Amino acid sequence: MASQTILEKLEILADAAKYDASCASSGTAKKDSLGGKGIGSTEGMGICHAYAPDGRCISLLKILLTNHCVFDCHYCVNRKSSNVRRARFTPQEVADLTLAFYRRNYIEGLFLSSGIIKSSNHTMEQIVEVARILREEHDFRGYIHLKTIPEADPELVHQAGLYADRVSINVELPTNAGLTRLAPDKDARQIEGAMGHVKGDIAEAKDAKKRFRNAPRFAPAGQSTQMIVGADAATDADIVGKASRLYDSFRLRRVYYSAFSPIPDASAVLPLKRPPLIREHRLYQSDWLMRFYGYKPGEVMQATEADGNLPLDIDPKLAWALKFRERFPVDVNRASKDELLRVPGLGVKAVGKILASRRHRTLRLEDVARLTLSLTKVRPFICTADWRPLVLTDRADLRALLAPKSEQLELFAA
Ligand code: SF4
Repeated sequence: MASQTILEKLEILADAAKYDASCASSGTAKKDSLGGKGIGSTEGMGICHAYAPDGRCISLLKILLTNHCVFDCHYCVNRKSSNVRRARFTPQEVADLTLAFYRRNYIEGLFLSSGIIKSSNHTMEQIVEVARILREEHDFRGYIHLKTIPEADPELVHQAGLYADRVSINVELPTNAGLTRLAPDKDARQIEGAMGHVKGDIAEAKDAKKRFRNAPRFAPAGQSTQMIVGADAATDADIVGKASRLYDSFRLRRVYYSAFSPIPDASAVLPLKRPPLIREHRLYQSDWLMRFYGYKPGEVMQATEADGNLPLDIDPKLAWALKFRERFPVDVNRASKDELLRVPGLGVKAVGKILASRRHRTLRLEDVARLTLSLTKVRPFICTADWRPLVLTDRADLRALLAPKSEQLELFAA
């Protein structure tokens, strides 16, 4: 390892970080620089995109401090027993790389995670040291997202939050049974305990800021977590239930869902096939229903099928509406905001526009058509001044009429 160049380490440790979805990596090759395969390539060298608290899309250098690890989580390519090339940065090297990328305008921040070297505390100290060098020695004002280690001393996690914009702690798997089976070194209580500490620190810092202008900030962009989907037997209902509990208990900004992807030299306890990517997509849609559309977790669970999973061929909002047809059609000229948000095909913005425009005039079907991508999807669930669906809402074949053709599904499921 001593002979590895910085570029070789970067290649290994940016690639090893790609399995972590909790920086909201877009996965797109948006920027390139230095000609082709240079350090500006999102594919090869770990630049990902995330969203800042104000909604801006920002580019982050996404790397691991090291992919050495003393833990042996079955689903992880970096686990102790995995046969992969290993590398390790020093905190100074990560800080230098971040500054170099930043000065060249390739990135606006850093997403740093790590395998566990020696001990959780030692690793956490190294992660904190990267942030300290950047903030204190270089007055770095860019975005920093630190993945923290739940087994580390809470004081170290606290220090991480003082330097970082966002911290995250992965719950890894939706059920405690799954965690025990697939990540035997991890402990669900410890993970949630660490999240609880971070929640308390964030609340305290916000409170202090209200009273003292110069109070130190603590993870102002909040905390997030990630769950792996499809590595164990957890159903979508289990996942939705867990996510909702985490949002409520720890005031998380985001729960990220990462479809398990088979890794080289995979452990025999793992499934051989990855779940369809569309499953991950449906979980994100259900997450949005809870966060922005006013659905309770139990209602999202009502959209699941007999096996506890969300349908793959239609989105969860449509699945719910088809199950509760007695709630439709809703009159776009009279219905409440909550009722309009339940209409398949109407997003939050479209509902806002309906509410604003109906103050001045009575809306017709063509007005709604301008606000949606698919009038076919909306029509069975609404009434307007000139439209009423009559038997359409009750048709037995309505699901078949509204589901995208299976050929289209394959595009997403590939
Ligand atoms: S702690 Fe587990 S998930 Fe994290 S790097 Fe080590 S083996 Fe992978």
